[in-house]
Amino acid sequence: TSAAVEDLITPQVPIRYTQHLINGRFVDAASGKTFPAYDPRTGEVIANVAEGDAEDINRAVSAARKAFDEGPWPKMSAYERSRILLRFADLVEKHNDELAALETWNNGKPYEQAAKSEVPLFVRLFHYYAGWADKIHGLTVPADGDYHVQTLHEPVGVAGQIIPWNFPLIMFAWKVGPALACGNTIVLKTAEQTPLTALFVAKLFHEAGLPEGVLNVVSGYGPTAGAALASHMDVDKLAFTGSTDTGKVVLELAARSNLKPVTLELGGKSPFIVFDDADVDKAVELAHFALFFNQGQCCCAGSRTFVHERVYDEFLEKSKKRALRRVVGDPFKKGVEQGPQIDGEQFEKVLGYIKSGIESNATLECGGDRLGSKGFFIQPTVFSNVQDDMLIAQDEIFGPVQSILKFKDTDEVIERANRTRYGLAAGVFTKNVDTANKLMRALRAGTVWINCFDVFDAAIPFGGYKMSGIGREKGIYSLHNYLQVKAVVTPLKNP
Ligand code: ADP
Repeated sequence: TSAAVEDLITPQVPIRYTQHLINGRFVDAASGKTFPAYDPRTGEVIANVAEGDAEDINRAVSAARKAFDEGPWPKMSAYERSRILLRFADLVEKHNDELAALETWNNGKPYEQAAKSEVPLFVRLFHYYAGWADKIHGLTVPADGDYHVQTLHEPVGVAGQIIPWNFPLIMFAWKVGPALACGNTIVLKTAEQTPLTALFVAKLFHEAGLPEGVLNVVSGYGPTAGAALASHMDVDKLAFTGSTDTGKVVLELAARSNLKPVTLELGGKSPFIVFDDADVDKAVELAHFALFFNQGQCCCAGSRTFVHERVYDEFLEKSKKRALRRVVGDPFKKGVEQGPQIDGEQFEKVLGYIKSGIESNATLECGGDRLGSKGFFIQPTVFSNVQDDMLIAQDEIFGPVQSILKFKDTDEVIERANRTRYGLAAGVFTKNVDTANKLMRALRAGTVWINCFDVFDAAIPFGGYKMSGIGREKGIYSLHNYLQVKAVVTPLKNP
């Protein structure tokens, strides 16, 4: 399966920023406390980072409040805001390789993936939202009576944003891009596992001319810093990406405090459906990518691979071979497809699900164990003969574990694919246009990828049905999350 998971390459990048970035300056935590950031290849500490708590969130929120109420940001011309977003994106592009290396070091994802795909997507997203900044406008409304009626689309105010560890830079972009384009100010809390790259890019944002207080980044844990942000009375909007359980917690905190509106991007158990007309080799490759990409740590991972009975045996044999060929190893090495899981907790959780799959009598085709003795590497694992009621077919595993299920006909697979509490994404693999048309409408999911998967263009909205979330990010839809609509009514005749 693997390249060596020993003999690790030492990343040649400095860790420049470990403090909070509040009101344009790097500052220690109010408590003076720090917490460790790790290298998931070894579990070793690579930096000690300021540990935010309620007091740090208070300071960041008051900086953001001041920058919104008094500062230049929402009052600046939209064109000027757009220019700052563009300058920022260009600066990020200049630091592409250094940022990618830092992302890999702290997260474990393949360096080539970070450098060639994720940092460029980040840059593209800021170019996209820079383009929106000066194109946000309201309507004139034809109302009954002698009134002139118009709507103003105004920024919501201070946005609180909480992001996860699986795509630290991309999650930053999805949250910060639209919020700033609309003229909001921000307090962002990064995931405790991956605080480093957000601090780096936030510094670049200030070099690009972002006024102080507009974007504040606080590192720290969820139940302390995260909860303080979600329940803050002076935060006007909350955007969260993470697990469904934590999503429920933050929604409740928001409701109990000041009823701030909340957008949630949560878990998934996405079906990837292979029909019998499909080119099996291509289907195998795409299903493999849909599940194993990013160590399986994707909320939209195609984690229920449904295969038509007529191609099932061939598909299974080839999927197993593909998983055995997957190159696992030091994510800094060229050609490595899979690095370590993010941390010990996720590593144990994934191994626990593998055990559960074996115990529930799914067939373990390959993998099933850790790799090496250091860090959090897991063998690419394939289960066949998976049944809908098994835990591995119902829970989000968030690791390199593919579950293959057999189906007979279209209506049956639609019903089974939809029989989940989640509804984030779905993949359909077929050459038959009627099948594709039927499935794209019948599947209850926020994204349906037909003959492709994980296409994350900045313009394409992303989000969930059911317990996968509330609202959409990216594209034009994300602007609505960060705008208030004000109706203004004036009589046409003097009163
Ligand atoms: P995971 O289980 O994948 O780590 P979480 O949903 O727990 O996902 O974490 C996603 C983000 O939510 C992280 O930034 C984390 O710190 C934050 N978080 C966790 N618990 C809470 C909480 N009680 N209140 C606010 N934020 C939280």
